[in-house]
Amino acid sequence: MLFPLPNPPTQKKGRVDFSEAEFRSLIQQKGVLLTWYQTAICPCSSETSDLSSFEITSFTPSTQSSSNKVSCPVCRGSGKIFHSGQQIRGIISSADSDFITARYGGYKDAVINITVNPEHIPSAGDRYVITDSIMLFNEVIVFAGGQVSTKYPIINREMTLATGDITLGVPYLAVAAPPAFETSATPLVQGTHFTVSSGKITFINAPAVGSRLSISYYMNPSYVAVSFPKTVRDSRAIAKSPDDYHIPLPLNFQAKLEFLGD
Ligand SMILES: [Zn+2]
Repeated sequence: MLFPLPNPPTQKKGRVDFSEAEFRSLIQQKGVLLTWYQTAICPCSSETSDLSSFEITSFTPSTQSSSNKVSCPVCRGSGKIFHSGQQIRGIISSADSDFITARYGGYKDAVINITVNPEHIPSAGDRYVITDSIMLFNEVIVFAGGQVSTKYPIINREMTLATGDITLGVPYLAVAAPPAFETSATPLVQGTHFTVSSGKITFINAPAVGSRLSISYYMNPSYVAVSFPKTVRDSRAIAKSPDDYHIPLPLNFQAKLEFLGD
């Protein structure tokens, strides 16, 4: 049956609507700078409809490979394309450990909430690099000669200490040289043993090729959207119009530290 409602009572008091402009100016004033990369499924992998039929109870053998091609020059086997990188502003909130249920299971670690303008609709898997923030990242790399590229570009950070102003990208770099790979007791120092520019390390006196380098460096944290945005959370307003109309509100979604998902 249908459930038609009677006309609502006429309101005597003024109506209160969300102000879209106020939300936008808040994001502009208080939002941090983010570099947003949208994601798409690389067409080197199987059709999405083919993958969705992959259920245990109704398994249909497919002649089509569902894996991505390692030889793919665009996604290099990851199955994902990151495209249209652009700088936007977003408000970061709730940087805590709320448990959320996402498409591939639950997450509890390093999840944040990001609020962006309605034009910047994300999809799950989009990447956000917070260019206003710095984190430390550690990794071990085998030195192949020439410049050293880390997983994330190294950020040179300017700081004022009791000893004066410094610019530092790599607080710690230890070397274990072949063939014994015993770690040298003396770590290498930025400015003395190597320099950092354009996110990469250049040695002044390079260690032997094949040496293992343990590098602690500053980087801009990179987050991946793990929930779909609340685009349904819009509203209606009536200002300067005889009839009420739809207003898009800012979007909120959850994102997770990318390196914890590896
Ligand atoms: Zn591909």
